[in-house]
Amino acid sequence: MPWGEKAHIPLYNQSGSIALYRGLVVSGAILAVFGAFLVVTDLYVPLGVSLFGLPISVTGGIMVVLGMLRAEPKPLEPEPGKKFCWYCMKQISKEAEVCPECSLPQHDASD
Ligand SMILES: [Zn+2]
Repeated sequence: MPWGEKAHIPLYNQSGSIALYRGLVVSGAILAVFGAFLVVTDLYVPLGVSLFGLPISVTGGIMVVLGMLRAEPKPLEPEPGKKFCWYCMKQISKEAEVCPECSLPQHDASD
């Protein structure tokens, strides 16, 4: 076998190009584990409540699947020369000292 063929194997791009909504996957996984824990607890300690954790576990599983299908939402960026009002989050002029939408004074954000 020619060992030179190894170079033709495509390498995975590890610069985070995988579409993954991490927050949703993590919280969904926690919910699924918590639900599974409730189901298991219920099986060993029957207190009249049956399969109480099952819908929680299913919801967590759905969240994990959705998180794997969805990409991370991009952070909202204002247009050039614009900024977001501190109070009403409307996009206003960067030089505006008073918001024209809610007429509240603006802080100097950065720099
Ligand atoms: Zn405002």
